[in-house]
Amino acid sequence: MKREFAVIGLGRFGGSICEELSREGMKVLAVDSNESKVNEFKSIATHAVIADSTDEQTLKDIGVKNVDHVIVAIGENIQASILTTVILVDMGVGNITVKAQNDYHEKILHKIGAHHIVHPERDMGRRLAHSLISSNILDYLELSEDYSMVEVRAGMKMIGKSLIELNIRAKFGCNVVAIKQGKDINVSPLADDQIKTNDILIIIGADKNISKFEKIYVID
Ligand code: ATP
Repeated sequence: MKREFAVIGLGRFGGSICEELSREGMKVLAVDSNESKVNEFKSIATHAVIADSTDEQTLKDIGVKNVDHVIVAIGENIQASILTTVILVDMGVGNITVKAQNDYHEKILHKIGAHHIVHPERDMGRRLAHSLISSNILDYLELSEDYSMVEVRAGMKMIGKSLIELNIRAKFGCNVVAIKQGKDINVSPLADDQIKTNDILIIIGADKNISKFEKIYVID
């Protein structure tokens, strides 16, 4: 069965969510208070409507309550984002994801009952910063406030050594969860698996431990 989504706010972030969900064949209700934005999405989303999401009755009238997941992608106008979220929580929408503009906004969204909160600009900034530190750091994903996952190209000091020789878990408290070699991916590497040139390691750990590991093994 097709899942139904509503995207409120069709800026760059909400707009790209709307496009991607539609491309994946999902039913999408696109909502924005700006008529020209709505017109842009008429041919992309299943339905595109002009509406002010801070008006409870309007949200009810357009049927937001019946969708599986609502994404609130209003950024700049924090007050509108908060008010919209309160209304959606009150209406009993099962899944509400909200884009937070800053940490203060995030705290309020938590308090009022948003189910998922995303910080696309902050997360992208962090990912970019990590990739700038070394060309061997290929990706960085925050798992929680203190834990992350990184994708790194094996540094010179790692090549030819087995995981047990590198002893990453004992030395740094990080876990190598997968090793990629070209298109092949080894998702449960063994202690005596050897690291080869161009291997890409996917590692999970506390941020401070990942930093230590990167300094020793990744940043040449
Ligand atoms: P971007 O995703 O482009 O970075 P942003 O974070 O700057 O966006 P805004 O441009 O403030 O966010 O808002 C995104 C969209 O939300 C805009 O198209 C705006 O018209 C729409 N919007 C703002 N307030 C409301 C509202 N109360 N009801 C419906 N749509 C709204």
